[in-house]
Amino acid sequence: MITSFQIGKIMGIPIKLHITFLLIIPVMGYIFANNIPVFGFSDVDSFFLRYALGISVAILLFTSVLLHELGHSFVALKHGTNIQGITLFLFGGVSSLEEIPRNPKVEFKMALAGPSVSLLIWSVLTIFIKLLNADTIMNTTTPLNPVLRVVWLIGYINIVLFIFNLIPAFPMDGGRVLRAVLAERMSYKKATSTAANVGKMFAIFMGIIGLIIPGGLWYILIAFFIYIGASEEDKSTQISVTLEGLKIRDIMTRDIKTVPSGMTADELVELMFRFKHMGYPVVEGDEVIGIVTFNDVQNIPKEERKKVLISDIMTKEIINLKEDDEAVKALKIMTINNIGRIIILNEKKMTGIVTRTDLLRSVQLLE
Ligand SMILES: [Zn+2]
Repeated sequence: MITSFQIGKIMGIPIKLHITFLLIIPVMGYIFANNIPVFGFSDVDSFFLRYALGISVAILLFTSVLLHELGHSFVALKHGTNIQGITLFLFGGVSSLEEIPRNPKVEFKMALAGPSVSLLIWSVLTIFIKLLNADTIMNTTTPLNPVLRVVWLIGYINIVLFIFNLIPAFPMDGGRVLRAVLAERMSYKKATSTAANVGKMFAIFMGIIGLIIPGGLWYILIAFFIYIGASEEDKSTQISVTLEGLKIRDIMTRDIKTVPSGMTADELVELMFRFKHMGYPVVEGDEVIGIVTFNDVQNIPKEERKKVLISDIMTKEIINLKEDDEAVKALKIMTINNIGRIIILNEKKMTGIVTRTDLLRSVQLLE
């Protein structure tokens, strides 16, 4: 299923919108249109103007998030880190980095670049409003010009983005800043665990506050988000650091079961029951021409499985690696593409396969 689509490229980085985004823009537009001043435009008489302003704020909010992410990307590119893309979704934006720099100084600069952009936008807009002598915008009883209110709101949103992202907890930028500072004094693994623990403690503290104060539901939701983010960052870092130095050839499975392209879906399901593997390389003669997994067959109605051939349902685009590649690379590719196995080729000939299970088993053995 397509969950995001590309709207353009900036600095060579694909900018994508997640489908949840299409839902959130009208909802936010509605909220801003009907909020009372200074956080909305309920005082604007014209229906069209009211909604036009609301939608503008919603769109500019996500533009602010995008600029924040581009701040990170700019520094990442400058230090030679590849960026797969920036995806804007329900809760903001995410930059997919090919790898997070293991150099604390670079990570420090990169993590701070996003919040710096947000702070800069807030400063510029605040100065702009001051120059117009429009301080009374804060005065809710006589709210100023609605268009100026958009400017003030975007400034406000950017200072919130700045503060929120500097919370010293993963997955916020502040968590990365903290790890970078710690990593100057201890191992990267230790620094990650320590920063993750600080994040978890912060989340628990925030959750408790959410339970105490009235209307604290948002605090509890954010606390969950932080707690899970901290655990995941810790886990994935421990795995990638543990795998460091290992090559694909050290962890791959050499004894591979393949299936011929002319096999029917019915026969494939039978084979899956027998061998307990959920995915198989598809071969034609000596050559690998695709990969077929349980996902490809499960949507075909039972009675049709006798007629459907594997070559019709397999994935033809084969993602492959070489035996000499780093094991960590397999993990990254699996995560980014959301796949469970990668074919290993040696001069166009398949010599093995690496699965998620292979990776996890290696990590358990090494720890
Ligand atoms: Zn950020």
